[in-house]
Amino acid sequence: MSGHDVIVVGARVAGAATAMLLARQGARVLLVDRVRFPSDTISSHQIQVPGVAALDRWGLLGPLRAAGTPPTRQVRFDTGPVVLHGHFPAWQGVDALYSPRRTVLDALLVDAARAAGAEVREEFRVRELTWSGGRVTGIRGSARGAAPVTETARLVVGADGKHSLVATAVAAVRYRQRPVSSFACYTYWSGLQAAGGELYQRPGRAVAVFPTNGDLVMVYMAAPLAGFQAFRTDIEGNYLKTLDGCGDLGERVRGGARAERLRTTPDQPNTFRASHGPGWALVGDAGVVMDSISAQGITNALRDADLLTGAIVAGLGGERPLATALAGHQRRRDAAIRPMYDFTVRLARFAAPTLAQRQLLASLAGRPAEIDRFIGAFSGVVPTAEYFAPVNILRILGPRGAAGLLAAAWDRQRGQAAW
Ligand SMILES: Cc1cc2nc3c(=O)[nH]c(=O)nc-3n(C[C@H](O)[C@H](O)[C@H](O)COP(=O)(O)OP(=O)(O)OC[C@H]3O[C@@H](n4cnc5c(N)ncnc54)[C@H](O)[C@@H]3O)c2cc1C
Repeated sequence: MSGHDVIVVGARVAGAATAMLLARQGARVLLVDRVRFPSDTISSHQIQVPGVAALDRWGLLGPLRAAGTPPTRQVRFDTGPVVLHGHFPAWQGVDALYSPRRTVLDALLVDAARAAGAEVREEFRVRELTWSGGRVTGIRGSARGAAPVTETARLVVGADGKHSLVATAVAAVRYRQRPVSSFACYTYWSGLQAAGGELYQRPGRAVAVFPTNGDLVMVYMAAPLAGFQAFRTDIEGNYLKTLDGCGDLGERVRGGARAERLRTTPDQPNTFRASHGPGWALVGDAGVVMDSISAQGITNALRDADLLTGAIVAGLGGERPLATALAGHQRRRDAAIRPMYDFTVRLARFAAPTLAQRQLLASLAGRPAEIDRFIGAFSGVVPTAEYFAPVNILRILGPRGAAGLLAAAWDRQRGQAAW
């Protein structure tokens, strides 16, 4: 008999959540990670409202707040010509986005997995998978400074991020892959006044400002990958120049103090991977990764952990064949993520806003309920496919706006459009 029901490789948002949920259902789980927690990683950390609701369901929102993580309820959405002030719409009783440092969030999840009964091994690096007759049977790896050991399980879950060793070892098939198109740069500021969240869209730039733990404010920017080499010649100067283009943000930032180093990365792939095979499954970024511009990865990982746990419990418990249950997980995962994935890939291309987009934003001004729904689309509360459906856009624009849009489309078709 296998040593464990499930081995989970990687103990951040996807892996620790999966291990916690499985252990809470009585599974024998081994959770390993090569780092020791608390541990930071290259990631800003907005958890969208549905992700916060998952933490609340699991009893972890209270501890997250107790760790000094401030809620963000209001947000400014600023394109330059249009500035909207709105709120995150509520979802399952939660009405705020939270932006906990990964040192706080990931450690909280690891502790919760341990408290649920999972065996947790930190500073344990997986080197390879073990196989029998084409089926994954376990892992081989070692704790820091120790001899390699083999651990076996009925299922090995790769929660080991976008460069997943598990996905590579099983040659998980990639699909809907899109090229890297942006880079990101962020850091933390003290003494920066931020009443809520702030999102700025400027030509070739996106900026996000969110309060986090320790009275710090995280300020993130993204830009097209084509400009990365030029940006690198003066990272801080170019970062500040970007903030200077966002109303008074540059001035406010300069009035505070930079509390940590700048983190800059072009490592922003966009891909789906097949999520399962004989003896293995993938969760979180290992299974689907997308550009950070829409700040969805953590929320996706938490949802994915929930869905995968349901499939594993059904499969290992004998309710359904494991392969059937895991195939169902992949379908549900893809249906849940794909609209936001496509939206994110488009955002990360930094295309100039279309006439319809500009008209939509202009028509939202002064309509609080509509602004909140718009913000809900970015935060995953209102499905993007539903929000950006032509029928909804035409409803928001009203008869005059819709007529203007149709006239412009007609002109464009005749080659007379202004742009
Ligand atoms: C610049 C940037 C900003 C971002 N901002 C946001 C944001 O604001 N909001 C948001 O939701 N998402 C954001 N993301 C995305 C988010 O960081 C990821 O989606 C999320 O971290 C995925 O979690 P995960 O648990 O799947 O993988 P990871 O967080 O990558 O964790 C994988 C874990 O696996 C471990 N591991 C890997 N290989 C091995 C091995 N061989 N043996 C043992 N352990 C191993 C690693 O040590 C690591 O701890 C951002 C990403 C970037 C790059």
